[in-house]
Amino acid sequence: WYKYKIIQMNINEQLNELRQGFKDGLLKTHEQRKKYLTALLAAIENNEEALFDGLYKDLKKSKEEARLTETGFVIQDLKHTLSHFKKWMRPKRVVNNLVNFPGKSRIHNEPLGVVLIISPWNYPFNLLFSPLIAAIAAGNTVVLKPSEFAPATSTAMKQIIESVFPKNIVLYVEGDGSKLIPAMMENFRFDHIFYTGSTQVGKKIYEAAAKNLTPVTLELGGKSPCVVDADANLEVAAKRIVFSKFLNAGQTCVAPDYLLVHQSKQEAFINLLKKYIFQFYTDPVQDGHDFGKIVNEDQFKRLKKYITEGSILEGGTINESTMQISPTLLSNIDMTDAVMQEEVFGPILPIISFINKKEALDTISKNENPLAFYIFTASEANAQEWLQAVPSGGACVNNCVMQLSNPKLPFGGRGNSGLGHYHGKFGFDGFSHKKSVMHSATWFDPNIKYPPYKGKLNLLKKITG
Ligand code: NAD
Repeated sequence: WYKYKIIQMNINEQLNELRQGFKDGLLKTHEQRKKYLTALLAAIENNEEALFDGLYKDLKKSKEEARLTETGFVIQDLKHTLSHFKKWMRPKRVVNNLVNFPGKSRIHNEPLGVVLIISPWNYPFNLLFSPLIAAIAAGNTVVLKPSEFAPATSTAMKQIIESVFPKNIVLYVEGDGSKLIPAMMENFRFDHIFYTGSTQVGKKIYEAAAKNLTPVTLELGGKSPCVVDADANLEVAAKRIVFSKFLNAGQTCVAPDYLLVHQSKQEAFINLLKKYIFQFYTDPVQDGHDFGKIVNEDQFKRLKKYITEGSILEGGTINESTMQISPTLLSNIDMTDAVMQEEVFGPILPIISFINKKEALDTISKNENPLAFYIFTASEANAQEWLQAVPSGGACVNNCVMQLSNPKLPFGGRGNSGLGHYHGKFGFDGFSHKKSVMHSATWFDPNIKYPPYKGKLNLLKKITG
């Protein structure tokens, strides 16, 4: 308790410096923001090896996977932002309505102030730096709170941040979020909180933010279903599903959580899944260069329990010393099993067959709105029917996870899987206040809208209709 009281006193001072940094206009202009974002890009590129080392220690991510899903992703996001955010910053002119003639209507983008970004351990770099880029581009000063469960990556990230930003622009805070965040929020009002992590903690943050009417973006989780319909290209589906499910050892928020396969294709499809598991990861839990580890003992224990539910079709091998679980396919699952009640978030894929759409939709609707929904089918009309029937944060037709790789698409959940979205311009917008500004001309000011009103109703109907 005392430790956190002292941290709280120190943090209050530092938070006030961030507030002052914002008030002093340290990120007011495009040039100021660009200077920091350009320096950030150089620092990431120069420290990529240190990030790779951290990601390997925390999650056994290979450099190739880390480049694809962490550093490469952030570098692209940063370059995209650098080349577009001058345009995003400009006030946007919109058409004036008759009642305001003559005049001009514009939407200005104002930074929100001091924002807090909290991230989880599964993509520790991507999920902290991608929102940071948006927050800086939009002109906010920032508190970064990385996950305590990816400490090696956190050390590398801290070094990058502190080499680029002074502490009155970005403050990097490490520690247990359940103690640190309430300590920070006790005496300080953030202007926005951007949280990525579990739905359970997301609810606590929403509640705490409500006390100050602090707006939030919540990037949460859920069970993302993946449907393989009877007319799907099975070969392509199997390859893409194996890739996206076992990426980062299944610890991906948008990974397919469970499979619904049309009964007529189930056997053939399972054989294809096995073929690609073998092709991608020859011996995943012994010498697997390409296969990650489970982040910590708690998660490892939770996942091992799922393997005892249903029958193992493939995998199920556990390496206790490296905390790895081989890519596992499960069948004969009951809807009451924990693996179908909780988000899997690991390399275990439950497979359920269905005979018609209604049956599959009944299974999907047993859980809350997912972060993602995936449908494999050869028919566009069939894809549309599925998409309309399943409310989800995002979706792919004939693919998985790739919806978040295009910065022109918004990324976020819906209902229990999240609130708000980001990536590219959507991130900039999320960290900006949209201020309506009406410029009215003074050379013309007809009396129609001013009292006395008697006899003006018909005219008013015309100009307000
Ligand atoms: P985690 O345990 O690392 O927690 C996330 C962050 O919340 C950490 O920084 C932690 O310190 C902080 N935290 C924990 N308790 C807190 C509290 N009471 N108050 C304030 N902060 C607190 O990560 P996790 O929650 O296990 O992450 C996994 C979950 O995140 C999964 O459900 C996954 O689906 C979801 N996720 C979502 C996305 C997305 O983009 N939507 C991305 C990745 C992960």
